[in-house]
Amino acid sequence: MNDVTKGAFLPENPREFDFFIDGAWHAGHDWFERNSPSHDVPVTRIPRCTRDDLDTAVAAARRAFEDGSWAGLPGAGRAGILLRTAEGLRRRRDEIARWEVLENGKPLTQARGEIDHCIACFEVAAGAARLVRGDSFNNLGDSLLGMLLREPIGVVGLITPWNFPFLILCERVPFILASGCTLVVKPAEVTSATTLILADILAEAGLPRGVYNVVTGAGRTIGQALAEHPDVDMLSFTGSTGVGRSCVHASADSNLKKLGLELGGKNPIIVFADANLHDAADAVAFGISFNTGQCCVSSSRLIVERSVAREFESILVDKMKKIRVGDPFDPETQIGAITTESQNTTILNYIAQGKAEGAKLLCGGAALDLGHGQFIQPTLFSDVTPSMAIAREEIFGPVLSSFHFDTPEEAIAIANDTVYGLAASLWTRDIDKALTVTRRVRAGRFWVNTIMAGGPETPIGGFKQSGWGRESGMLGVEEYTQVKSVHIETGGRTHWIAS
Ligand code: NAD
Repeated sequence: MNDVTKGAFLPENPREFDFFIDGAWHAGHDWFERNSPSHDVPVTRIPRCTRDDLDTAVAAARRAFEDGSWAGLPGAGRAGILLRTAEGLRRRRDEIARWEVLENGKPLTQARGEIDHCIACFEVAAGAARLVRGDSFNNLGDSLLGMLLREPIGVVGLITPWNFPFLILCERVPFILASGCTLVVKPAEVTSATTLILADILAEAGLPRGVYNVVTGAGRTIGQALAEHPDVDMLSFTGSTGVGRSCVHASADSNLKKLGLELGGKNPIIVFADANLHDAADAVAFGISFNTGQCCVSSSRLIVERSVAREFESILVDKMKKIRVGDPFDPETQIGAITTESQNTTILNYIAQGKAEGAKLLCGGAALDLGHGQFIQPTLFSDVTPSMAIAREEIFGPVLSSFHFDTPEEAIAIANDTVYGLAASLWTRDIDKALTVTRRVRAGRFWVNTIMAGGPETPIGGFKQSGWGRESGMLGVEEYTQVKSVHIETGGRTHWIAS
């Protein structure tokens, strides 16, 4: 590690965090120490909350919901606090970005860009807080008026993963707040710092106490307890499909709380022969390598037209070899460290399995030794067959599998040959092909001649086993509401019992 990086950015001692309930910081009883995955030095100490801490947090969120201090505010009042929070994020952008890098391993330049997106989430949600509304039925006859009142669902539990600790948080929190709900957040244990920092910024912006609470700790204990909690009205879970399934069981076995689920993906990127192959190859390289492929919408299955497949793969290899993997504090770095040791092992095991099952390794295929941290080279396998593990399973690393097709029908079939349906991308200059494939591939997000584009205005979410419900945008606010049908008689009553 170079001295500039070490001196300028690494803390001398790990920063010890408290957890946040009912507008106050609480000291932990027991801590989890987090090492920077890029530098192998301890950077944070995060409390392991107890079941009692969780109960206290849920009770605080319940009180804050019932007393109307948040849900009872006009939308304009909620919007004001969300906008002040956006300002707070702007002021503390570098600080938040630094903790994201230290705990997650992503490049600093990328983390800063993500915080800009988070600021936009708060700004969009502020507008949504003023616009969220119900409906009316003026067609029920002269003496009956119908209304749909849109009401916040209540206390929300929010469980987030480690790959985009702050971004995923901010694609949900402002929209949940815009709806009038209160919440208890449980971040991934290895990346809790920025979720706690947000508590500080929200409080400074004037959020009433008890509206945003954070409990930290392991998923198996605190996460599971939050999913099972009988006084939580809705759980928004983002993470693996396996744990998502366990949240469904937890809801069914407790209070049937509503669930929002954002789960895994095995996302196709289809390249037709008529595409601009250099643009497409750049997007494919980005799509699998961004955030070291630890990205739910990573395009991990390349589906390329056979007539250009070899030429395309050769352009792609050239680009993938030029991706700069390295220390995330180096401004030249494009991809940083693998976030956890277990994820590092998982990715390397998949690479070994791909080789063993007979896929052809075109580039990468190994760890990268920088003398510190855990890094993996962007990896491309060709001649992948549908039954191979690397073809079917979410690797969550920079490992791309290439398939070849002859007809659009075949491309659509390969794209849909997965239990997931999170995202897809398509490259062609032919509008007919673009629209046909877009309409036939089952995915919650679709990009034509681009990749991972879009802002907080548009909802995100998955088809099939990639999830339930939508986050962000107006739909992302409505997700946290329920509608009440109201009927109002305006004329005299026609009596049922004869007088
Ligand atoms: P994970 O499922 O292991 O953990 C996610 C969160 O759930 C963490 O906070 C964890 O502590 C908690 N958790 C673990 N066990 C739990 C349990 N039994 N009950 C309740 N909570 C529990 O996922 P991960 O490894 O942190 O993240 C990677 C996965 O997340 C990948 O599958 C990825 O595709 C998915 N993901 C999806 C999206 C999306 O928007 N669809 C976004 C990011 C990540």
